Amino acid sequence: MRRISNRTIFLLILMGVLVLGVVFFTVRFFLHAGEWVTFPGSPHVYSGSNLSSGKVTDRSGVLLLDSTGDSRVYAEDEAVRRATLHLLGDRYGYISAPILEEYADALVGYSVVNGLYGADRTANTAVLSISAQVQKTALEALSGYHGTVGVYNYKTGEILCAVTSPSYDPDNMPDIEGDQTGAYDGVYLNRFFQTTTVPGSIFKLVTAAAALETLPDITSRTFTCNGTLDVEGDTLVCNGTHGAINLTQALANSCNVVFGQLAMELGPEVLEEYAQKLGITQSLSFDGLTTAAGSFDLTDAENFEIAWAGCGQYNDLINPCQYMTLMGVIANGGQAALPYLMDRVEGGLLTSYEHGKTTTKRVLERSTTDTIAQMMRNNVVNVYGAWQFPDLEVCAKSGTAEVGEGGTSNATFAGFIRDEAYPLAFIVIVEHGGAGSSAAAPIAGKVLNACVEVLSQEKN
Ligand SMILES: [Zn+2]
Repeated sequence: MRRISNRTIFLLILMGVLVLGVVFFTVRFFLHAGEWVTFPGSPHVYSGSNLSSGKVTDRSGVLLLDSTGDSRVYAEDEAVRRATLHLLGDRYGYISAPILEEYADALVGYSVVNGLYGADRTANTAVLSISAQVQKTALEALSGYHGTVGVYNYKTGEILCAVTSPSYDPDNMPDIEGDQTGAYDGVYLNRFFQTTTVPGSIFKLVTAAAALETLPDITSRTFTCNGTLDVEGDTLVCNGTHGAINLTQALANSCNVVFGQLAMELGPEVLEEYAQKLGITQSLSFDGLTTAAGSFDLTDAENFEIAWAGCGQYNDLINPCQYMTLMGVIANGGQAALPYLMDRVEGGLLTSYEHGKTTTKRVLERSTTDTIAQMMRNNVVNVYGAWQFPDLEVCAKSGTAEVGEGGTSNATFAGFIRDEAYPLAFIVIVEHGGAGSSAAAPIAGKVLNACVEVLSQEKN
């Protein structure tokens, strides 16, 4: 009797383990089967390093990639192939396409119920939010300079432009390894998402935001710029001698003396708090992408270094995609839509993925962003020239970021259109391009015009 009951208990335990195992596997299967089927290298859906199923189009239906056959077919237009390569990946895996990997199960038409071959494998199409026409315009506008251009709708989150240069034609790959000219430096990187860059004076917007929210009398103050600022024996040099000016004029003239003084008055804790709050030191994650995080670190910084940090130099770094989002935050009253690239994946009658909208936290008061927007509008009207953006109410800040010793500076330009019909925020980085207002602003003008054209066609 005793032996039998021991056996029964043993059997019951075994059965329990079996049932638990089946439940565990079933749950795991429903949660992860899509990933198992589409893991990079899976022979069912990959040929070599490439996902081999589905098509990718831009927002207007322009075919960017067809991988339903044995090999990848890229866009018909060579310029579009160059301008979209870093979003789609190349044939050899040098340039990865995290966005296509992220939606691989939707793209190959995998479902837990029907499995991989239940759906029509060739029919699924991923529709990106970018415009091929805008991408092309942006790459051409960079005219051979290395850098990046990004534009997104700060109300919906859709990215219309995410261009990185240099690029190349995947159908006619150049001899990159053998190149000695530097023309392909960092060509495998998507500069918009994966890199950080010295912001230069576009960072003065962060310093201005911190000043507006923590120094009560800031808008009624008058500052004096004599061309230089002495800080404990070191000299901070301004780009001019601006005399008696207020905060708006200081931003318009990009006065280093005023912003250096403000940075020291705010102090390292407040500046670091705002750099973190405004996302400078954070990365963004969406559509399988995680952006590089910028940095703003004043640990052990001397006053002179704090002053330069407030002007976007010292060891400040921003990620272009993240900073573009911050421009959206300023445009949209303190919080904005987070960017996205994958609009939807559709196949036959079904839409297997559709983007949702997510927004940033509220990071600035509306009164602060209203004031900054007004100051940025003043920059365009009184310094950069509203003629550069005919018919568009562009608000912006330029920067000229010193990089290394003696080289030509990087040109930076960031801002937004203040218009309910075209709520677009943007950033332009031109490596070794020189001054932001002269090198990067005209690129922004061309790309914004292209965006407005695409959006107005969609409205008709
Ligand atoms: Zn000055």
